[in-house]
Amino acid sequence: MKTLLPTSTAGSLPKPSWLAQPEVLWSPWKLQDEELISGQQDALRVSLQEQQQAGIDIVSDGEQTRQHFVTTFIEHLSGVDFENRQTVKIRDRYEASVPTVVGPVSRTRPVFVEDARFLRQQTGQKIKWALPGPMTMVDTLYDDHYKSREKLAWEFAGILNQEAKELEAVGVDIIQFDEPAFNVFFDEVNAWGIKCLERAIEGLKCETAVHICYGYGIKANTDWKKTLGSEWRQYEEVFPKLQQSNIDMISLECHNSRVPIELLELVRGKKVMVGAIDVATDTIETPEEVADTLRKALQFVDADKLYPCTNCGMAPLSREVARGKLNALSAGADIVRRELSA
Ligand code: ZN
Repeated sequence: MKTLLPTSTAGSLPKPSWLAQPEVLWSPWKLQDEELISGQQDALRVSLQEQQQAGIDIVSDGEQTRQHFVTTFIEHLSGVDFENRQTVKIRDRYEASVPTVVGPVSRTRPVFVEDARFLRQQTGQKIKWALPGPMTMVDTLYDDHYKSREKLAWEFAGILNQEAKELEAVGVDIIQFDEPAFNVFFDEVNAWGIKCLERAIEGLKCETAVHICYGYGIKANTDWKKTLGSEWRQYEEVFPKLQQSNIDMISLECHNSRVPIELLELVRGKKVMVGAIDVATDTIETPEEVADTLRKALQFVDADKLYPCTNCGMAPLSREVARGKLNALSAGADIVRRELSA
């Protein structure tokens, strides 16, 4: 029987302190070469086990093999020079030192396929794999070659499609593209962002998702959120076109956010991963708070299309807090499941 309200996370989970320094983004690895690979596999096993113990239904690798959700993917491509760095404003929000596109980009080897195969061997549960979205990749680089965000995004979409097809072939059930940039560059999203996403999923038979959030709980993001006013209506700009797209699922930030919940109506018919866990605070939600967010979402999302989830990745949190939040997510979903079946 199909589980009602299957739970999952947006993707990343904290890494063990023996693998990388905890509670920071872009944390350097503490191991090298062969030791790093086996350390990452051990961390993946632990991350999976923590999701399973919390009762998470759709599991992930916790992104234990990547330093950053965008740059680790880009490191595996040719045409990008990591020595040649430029400081650019990313997401129109904060300065970051990023690598430079110096020639045609291509995928010279698979990026996450072996990691996904490894995860597949560890569990019979449904697995979800996150990849960066084309627009967010473009927005995390300096482009000295294509000189066009759209052209570069289209090239990345083709590369992501190659990777996605191989992930599907090793047994990934849901491939998710992380597009926080979709919450910022609305004209580009509607002009070519969604088209690039559809290029990235071309020919896939597994389920596909796009994750659009207000970012990790880092200061640049929490400061930005303070400027957004009493109602966050960003989703309103991109949902109508996403509703018309071929993407199966949409992953969103809801809990503790000022997103008017009725905006979910704009993607009626899609499966929705409802963020019921705030990743920008160490306070662990109570199951009742999670249930409350899910009940609100149920006014606009049919029960068979609602997937309780986290607002964003939990990589920058402590492991203890992340575990508490996973448990709360499960327990909250359970409350609503019981209500629905009563
Ligand atoms: Zn996110």
